[in-house]
Amino acid sequence: MSPELSTPLQQIRGIGPARARALAEAGCATVGDLLRHLPFRYEDRRAVRPLSEAVPGMSATFRGRLSGVKRIHTRRRGFSVVRGILQDDSGSIPVVWFNRPYLAAQGLEAGEWLLHGEVREAKGGRELLNPSCERPDEAVHGARIVPVYPAAGTVGPALLRRILDGILAEIDLTSQVLDPLPRDLRERRGLPPLSEALRDLHLPGDVDIEALNQRKSPAHRRLIYQELLELQLGLAIRRDQEKVETRTRSYRVDDDLRNVARSVLPFPLTRAQKKVLREIVADLKGPRPMLRLLQGDVGSGKTIVAVLALVVALENGYQGAFMAPTELVAEQHFASLERILGDRYRIGLFTGSRRDARLRRELASGEIRLAVGTHALIQEGVEFQDLGLAVVDEQHRFGVLQRGRLRNKGSLPDMLVMTATPIPRSLALVAWGDQEVSVLDELPPGRTPIRTEVVPAKERRRVYRELREDLKAGARAYVVFPRIEEGAAASVEEMGEKLRKYLSDIPSAVLHGRMPAPEREEIMRAFADGEVRVLVSTTVIEVGVDVPEATWMVIESAEHFGLAQLHQLRGRVGRGDRPSRCIAIHGKLTEAGERRLAVFGETTDGFRIAEEDLAIRGPGELLGLRQAGLPGFRLARLPEDLDLLLQAKDDARDLFARSRYPRRAQ
Ligand code: ADP
Ligand code: MG
Repeated sequence: MSPELSTPLQQIRGIGPARARALAEAGCATVGDLLRHLPFRYEDRRAVRPLSEAVPGMSATFRGRLSGVKRIHTRRRGFSVVRGILQDDSGSIPVVWFNRPYLAAQGLEAGEWLLHGEVREAKGGRELLNPSCERPDEAVHGARIVPVYPAAGTVGPALLRRILDGILAEIDLTSQVLDPLPRDLRERRGLPPLSEALRDLHLPGDVDIEALNQRKSPAHRRLIYQELLELQLGLAIRRDQEKVETRTRSYRVDDDLRNVARSVLPFPLTRAQKKVLREIVADLKGPRPMLRLLQGDVGSGKTIVAVLALVVALENGYQGAFMAPTELVAEQHFASLERILGDRYRIGLFTGSRRDARLRRELASGEIRLAVGTHALIQEGVEFQDLGLAVVDEQHRFGVLQRGRLRNKGSLPDMLVMTATPIPRSLALVAWGDQEVSVLDELPPGRTPIRTEVVPAKERRRVYRELREDLKAGARAYVVFPRIEEGAAASVEEMGEKLRKYLSDIPSAVLHGRMPAPEREEIMRAFADGEVRVLVSTTVIEVGVDVPEATWMVIESAEHFGLAQLHQLRGRVGRGDRPSRCIAIHGKLTEAGERRLAVFGETTDGFRIAEEDLAIRGPGELLGLRQAGLPGFRLARLPEDLDLLLQAKDDARDLFARSRYPRRAQ
């Protein structure tokens, strides 16, 4: 009986219980699971080379007859060697197999074989090392374009190739794989049926191997399109649910309110800030609850925009919430909000380390008008009397997808979500739709560019010597270490203490996330006031911290940070009018680490950084799709596949519209 998608792998020939278990542990329990396990690259082994051309260093396929095959006895236990000679019309080459003892007994000396392997230098010439060995008429590993699979747990690429080849020889894909795409859509977009695409990905014929390796083959495009369409449909459904929400709160913006806003403004707004504020006010007066993403690079001045939006809500008699990415930033925002709004409204600080029952009661009764806290604020069952506007800082993942969860908490508040990791426009469109993104594309005046240096650890002395000079002249600096304690990377505890000794004539302090909140607040206050001039810190200062007088950012073990993270850290300086420096000190670099740091050193453009980050990490992770219950991407990449994304977006809209009206009777 030919296998079906639901057939357990154990029933497939060549897969015993142990292998089936190993595969199941890697997430492949059935034939269908395995068919979804796609090659990640392809090798062109179509050409069969004459043995006369075999030179050390080449990986190639040869065809010929084997002779002199024998198992060599060695003393090492669990180690075996089989040797033989391969011969074709052009010449011959010794062949050696390590740890394939079964080969010696396989009748290798009869008939022709295809061998694919690496030629290497050996005593007295060359030899062919550990080649695969198969009959030309049933070749899986040679004489064709060969798919290379990522290992599935302990099951390696060659075995996967053989298993899948066997399955595909027997299964009737056309009847087994139902195509979720309507035929007219497929034809309009010129995409092959799913069954055909799957076959072509596992058993590519004589096709363009470049296209295969760049995920641009028709089969790839078909799967990518489907992924993007599924995503777009998911989003369309969610957006549609949003649309039925109607606004329950109304806002008035009159002269009194404008006066209040003016009185809290410490500086004139930039053109971009004014534009964004207008967009927000328009949303607040619109028919639906607001969900707006505000993108603005580090230091572009998002906070004041949020504060003014909150003033609108507060003046209209609703409560506000300001949610920061970390407790430290919440504490900072709380301090500055108290300063500018404290006389008008009662403000409460709500973080994990302060579980104050009285504050909670006052929030529920409406005495507290503005709650400042971490993102947990809206998730932890904190009760508001009437929450009008919630601001979520530094969290673009909090999108359309996550808002649904809030709906259960009574009427939906308006939401402003802010992020400094600008997601590339293409991706913002995916997750947010066209109408709901604001961009702060202008920095407040008077900024001087940050000078970035990426230096190896051996230059550390020089860096700290210069830092010390500058500190003596009154500068303020951050020195950041990856984690509190870590074996390989420099740690705050060890290196930080050394550094503080070196700078012993300058007031410094250590700051990390595990400190009690009051201590942390005291240190931040001292740094902001200049009593402490060097802050030796973990990444708790990564986002949101705002001390305009700080002009040095030294990042230790910079190779341990992601690109967006480095960019955020750098954004802690260059906030005032004095020139700032950011120095990334790194140890040994991987290729990816080198690429990250090169980009970091080259540009301060958050948009470019975001695109690179997207390329490195992939869109699924950036958007938190999987957590949101939407299909994550497997093949799609952005912005590379933008053309398919736009097609999928249009098609999703059509499909969605079609599905909402009952079909006409035929
Ligand atoms: P981010 O967008 O990174 O959250 P902030 O809101 O912390 O940026 O603003 C960065 C710095 O710029 C702060 O010190 C803030 O007071 C200042 N700032 C913001 N807007 C203006 C402006 N229009 N004019 C002058 N300074 C501004
Ligand atoms: Mg900020």
